[in-house]
Amino acid sequence: MRKCLGGEALIQFSLLGSGSSGNALLIKTDTTKILVDCGLSYRQLRLRSAEVGETIDDLAGVLVTHEHSDHVNGIGVLTRKLGPPVYMSRGTYHNLPKSLGLLKGIECFEPGDTVTLGDIEATSFSVAHDAADPVSYVLRANGTILGIAADLGHATALVRQRLAGAHGLILESNYCPDMLRQSSYPFQVQQRINSSSGHLSNRDMSSLLAHVAHDELQQVVLIHISDENNTHELAKRMAVQALGVRAVPVDVAPQDRPTNLFEVSS
Ligand SMILES: [Zn+2]
Ligand SMILES: [Zn+2]
Repeated sequence: MRKCLGGEALIQFSLLGSGSSGNALLIKTDTTKILVDCGLSYRQLRLRSAEVGETIDDLAGVLVTHEHSDHVNGIGVLTRKLGPPVYMSRGTYHNLPKSLGLLKGIECFEPGDTVTLGDIEATSFSVAHDAADPVSYVLRANGTILGIAADLGHATALVRQRLAGAHGLILESNYCPDMLRQSSYPFQVQQRINSSSGHLSNRDMSSLLAHVAHDELQQVVLIHISDENNTHELAKRMAVQALGVRAVPVDVAPQDRPTNLFEVSS
């Protein structure tokens, strides 16, 4: 692992999985390791963290965005086996799937609250998504900022404000509107995805990115890409267009395997 040099504050992260088959984001600094969401099985969490050279034995905590099963399926087993504290909004907690079983170490907050885990400060913010009380997070560690926008129907002024100034951005880019319209999905499902509380399209991701990109931005990773209604190439092209002359690396997280361990610093 690269060590922090002379005041450099590094945040490293890998999407262990991203999309409707299970979301988990591993984030670490020199001293603290956390997960955002845990929609993978315990076995997959272990296997995929090992693929990026990491373990989940020393997690300082898990931050949850919302109660949809692709974000929480692995929480029950994880807390019973390893017992890291798990943070979520009160509304999320009261709407968790019963199938998770006994849960240990749950800490509830109100959207807008900040949770401190080691040297990571995670500030939650509300997002427009069809869940009880969904949030996303902006993480700060020694001056380095990582902004996450997962599962949101549209980017509100609050989302744009919270992501401004981030050194790394993890953004949903779920579907291409044209592909969704021509897909085999039933009309109601199309409507749900397309609604202002469904998922973020490539087009909306692109306009969000154009709004929040700045000279200190170092890495963009696109997440929650639909297998049926999008392609990695399309989503990436829209992000590169939004960045214009800024030469910022853009990567796309696959559903079924981990990404590299990305790095951003201040
Ligand atoms: Zn969701
Ligand atoms: Zn989701």
